Amino acid sequence: MTSDCLFCRIIAGEIPSTSVYQDDDVFAFRDINPAAPTHVLVIPKAHINGISEADDSQQALLGKLMIRAKHIAKELGLAEDGYRLVINNGEQGGQTVYHLHLHILGGRNMTWPPG
Ligand code: 5GP
Ligand code: ZN
Repeated sequence: MTSDCLFCRIIAGEIPSTSVYQDDDVFAFRDINPAAPTHVLVIPKAHINGISEADDSQQALLGKLMIRAKHIAKELGLAEDGYRLVINNGEQGGQTVYHLHLHILGGRNMTWPPG
């Protein structure tokens, strides 16, 4: 828990969110400003600033995030039509919250390349 981190505060329940999943290591909740009809953020409960700051020792945790994202996407009905998983990293990557998060975006056709 990093007290000045928005997502750590969401995990702690200090800031309300619409949770869709949690276990000992992973928390998932609806994005407050959805960029698609379904937009969920999947985050580690441990604070990691971003993917570039993840440690090699966290390989299993990162794998868990990815596999959980797949399960959540299926549970939310996205598996058949498809969806996009996104990790923004750093300023040019478009990261605005510095607690690692995986975006699940679905419910519309995605464009490529992203803006
Ligand atoms: P980033 O730009 O860092 O990849 O994504 C941050 C995401 O967090 C954005 O999509 C933004 O809408 C979302 N977000 C920012 N503040 C809050 C909040 O207080 N609650 C929730 N649920 N999502 C947030
Ligand atoms: Zn945090």
